[in-house]
Amino acid sequence: MDHFELRDGVLHCEEVPLADIAAAVGTPVYVYSTGTIERHARVFREAVAATGDPLIAYAVKANPNAAVLATLARAGFGADVVSGGELQRARAAGVAADKIVFSGVGKTEEEMALACMAGIYQFNLESEPEAEALSEVAVRLGRRAPVAFRINPDVDAGTHAKISTGKSENKFGIPEARALAAYRRASALPGLEVQGIAVHIGSQLMRLEPLERAFAKIGALIGELRAAGCDIRVADLGGGLGVPYDPAQEPPPSPAEYGAMVARVARDWDVRLVFEPGRVIVGNAGALVTRVVRVKEGAGDPFVIVDAGMNDLMRPSLYDAWHNIRAVAPRGNKVSANVVGPVCETGDTFATGRSMDDVLPGDLVAFMTAGAYAATMASTYNSRPLTPEVMVSGNRWAVVRDRQTVEALIRADRMPPWLSEAQQETE
Ligand code: PLP
Repeated sequence: MDHFELRDGVLHCEEVPLADIAAAVGTPVYVYSTGTIERHARVFREAVAATGDPLIAYAVKANPNAAVLATLARAGFGADVVSGGELQRARAAGVAADKIVFSGVGKTEEEMALACMAGIYQFNLESEPEAEALSEVAVRLGRRAPVAFRINPDVDAGTHAKISTGKSENKFGIPEARALAAYRRASALPGLEVQGIAVHIGSQLMRLEPLERAFAKIGALIGELRAAGCDIRVADLGGGLGVPYDPAQEPPPSPAEYGAMVARVARDWDVRLVFEPGRVIVGNAGALVTRVVRVKEGAGDPFVIVDAGMNDLMRPSLYDAWHNIRAVAPRGNKVSANVVGPVCETGDTFATGRSMDDVLPGDLVAFMTAGAYAATMASTYNSRPLTPEVMVSGNRWAVVRDRQTVEALIRADRMPPWLSEAQQETE
């Protein structure tokens, strides 16, 4: 469920016409709905309420905008971060340090120190050498770092290969077979406080069965680790629940179904659960609004060329992702078209042979379900400045990230002395 709907023939975000935002801010522009984010946060919290008092740590990577983070911090969410930058953004937006978990395979010593000093809830360790390094950092700082190992359960999540993280060949976590030895060694390290276990098998999951299989393995490991003397008090079950991108396809399992499955599987674990939802909280809380630059005849279907490119919304070129594409003011007739951006790559294609609202040059078009893994993956490829972001709440809206300027792009480069001197000489 989201808060983007047609009112009087014009697509609105909550009570604000998208055309008003586009007129004021220009295009392309990302637009987020506070109502949708808050609703999803509430639905998720209620769905997992039967599991006790879990920590819900929003996966910041999905959408790290400060307004999004602050909205979720107010809703009581913590944060799952994967870099020092995400940690700092979460703290700056008001997320309490003791609600932050730190995942990621390549934490540097600087990032470890930052998180140690902040006093985060848990480090999710991805390897044995990482445990050694974190212990050394913590000892140097006079701290003990609370840790869990991320287990790679070798379960196929049944999602796109590039967002699958729980197969043995993926870079994430340690295999079950090494767990006991890794925990024994970590328990003996002076800078670590072993407290938990973690798992995350992938994103945009459309079935609960792989998750359930992975969680069952975690449950069995908790028993084995406790029998070996490890005090496991926390189980972090990651994120991964899918969202409906294509209204014509069967929807993913609901948060309520997910929560019921977890409550059943983890009933006897006697741990505090941590969840790291990202996409399911913000995915369909956002749309990318873009303008049709021109329509060009194709060999078959016409090319609808819009002013957003793969640098603004990378998911289709990266994962063959499907986004619903709607006219902001539909005229009622449908056409089959290829929707493409202006970037000089054939991969800059959002849809091929798509049945969609007929649009003309100058019309506004919205890419739906663009709240997660969208603006955050943007780049300046083709020297296209980063797209602004707008947050709506009821009948109010505000720019929550300015459009980058070309001047800022130019300013960020530096001339080496041999070129700037040569330039001065020719002047
Ligand atoms: N936790 C970890 C460790 C992740 O890598 C991810 C993303 O892949 C998430 C949570 C969030 O996943 P999702 O947005 O699918 O809920």
